[in-house]
Amino acid sequence: MVEQTNAPYDFRSDTLTKPTPEMLEAMLHAEVGDDVYDEDPTIHKLEKYIVELTGKEAALFCASSTMSNQIAARTHLPKPPHSIICDDRAHIFRFEAGGLAIISQTMVYPITPKNGVYITAEEVRAKIVPAGDPHFSPTRLIEIENTLGGSIMPIEEMEKIKALANEKQIKVHLDGARLWNVCAATNTEMKAWTQHVDSVNLCLSKGIGAPVGAVLAGTKEFIEDAKFYKKLMGGGWRQAGVLAAAALVAIETIWPKMSQDHDRAKKIEQVFAKYGFSTLIPVDTNMVMVNAKGGNLDVAKLSLECKKLGVIIRDSSPDVIRFVVHHHIDDKAVDLIDQALKATLDN
Ligand SMILES: *Cc1c(COP(=O)(O)O)cnc(C)c1O
Repeated sequence: MVEQTNAPYDFRSDTLTKPTPEMLEAMLHAEVGDDVYDEDPTIHKLEKYIVELTGKEAALFCASSTMSNQIAARTHLPKPPHSIICDDRAHIFRFEAGGLAIISQTMVYPITPKNGVYITAEEVRAKIVPAGDPHFSPTRLIEIENTLGGSIMPIEEMEKIKALANEKQIKVHLDGARLWNVCAATNTEMKAWTQHVDSVNLCLSKGIGAPVGAVLAGTKEFIEDAKFYKKLMGGGWRQAGVLAAAALVAIETIWPKMSQDHDRAKKIEQVFAKYGFSTLIPVDTNMVMVNAKGGNLDVAKLSLECKKLGVIIRDSSPDVIRFVVHHHIDDKAVDLIDQALKATLDN
């Protein structure tokens, strides 16, 4: 059990943001209806907005990215035996309570990327399990996560993976929980990325800062099927327009400022570099993975020094410290990290 914290700065995750006064105000005045009857106008507004943003035909407001990803997998995988290819570190594989096995009855063929950052079309090609042989569970889905660990998979690689998937008649799902960050960091339209996948999940409660929610987008037919699994998983959440209202404000007010998070992540990387510590993967967006083990950095000690200054960091691993920057983190927080690190190394 992690202790409840009211520390001013919390770097453990970008899920830790709290709704802003504007979001709460929008929730108070949201026009709502019953989502199971498909009658919530604010949810419709959010879904329509996501349709425009992603260039997909339809969208579905879900309770979480886990729910959205699991619905996507199940919808793409109607009839076992089947299998999915993804990055070995993918959220859908490692951090969703074994949902792929339980809900989709699927085999998983994970790839440890050789470049250490993202899987390549070439690696995916080598993993594809063919159909037509009763020994096998054929590949029916390729899952991409972007960003993964805060690093960006280049758009060219997504394009290559989609071309391969088309050639082999395999679907592609993008876990774009943090695709907002990709767009902010590269100054590109979301459509540019989502055109290379069949379905996409976008998280609203990470860097975007809404209190709850995620959206799944894809073809009309896909979303019609997905609605069934959303209900089945207990996702019929009635007057959830209050949450959609907060999400719309979050997108409008937080997303345009997101590159500030990325600048601060870079500054954190520089603070560690100043004392000789490196990061494990590129700091492309809002996450910094500090190589603690390689640098002989005492994570517990640093965590304690941070706490003294009102800063909470993730100290669960002695090997790596993951800093996640979000809109409650300002420049002062970065200075405090510098102070804490100095104090850790000084005594
Ligand atoms: C956080 C995260 C999820 C799960 O999000 P929840 O809303 O907490 O279920 C899924 N995928 C990625 C890439 C994430 O970072």
